[in-house]
Amino acid sequence: MRDMRLLLLIAAIVGVFLIVRTLLLSNSRRKAPLPERLKEQGTVVRCAHCGMHVPQFEAHRSGNRMYCSREHALEDARNHQDG
Ligand SMILES: [Zn+2]
Repeated sequence: MRDMRLLLLIAAIVGVFLIVRTLLLSNSRRKAPLPERLKEQGTVVRCAHCGMHVPQFEAHRSGNRMYCSREHALEDARNHQDG
């Protein structure tokens, strides 16, 4: 009878330990910091070629103008050269 109680006590301690460990692990996972990029998404610029709005960190700069892609920056530069 005494051995049975001891086994139940050990099982209870192990159970509590596992529950606490699971809670601690899920907590630390939820606290993961937001990517830096998300914070910068507030700033949006307009492509000087097609007028599309893109986040500043994704925009391509050419002189004073901003573009949605490198292709549009090159294309616009080529158009200006031809006149
Ligand atoms: Zn564009």
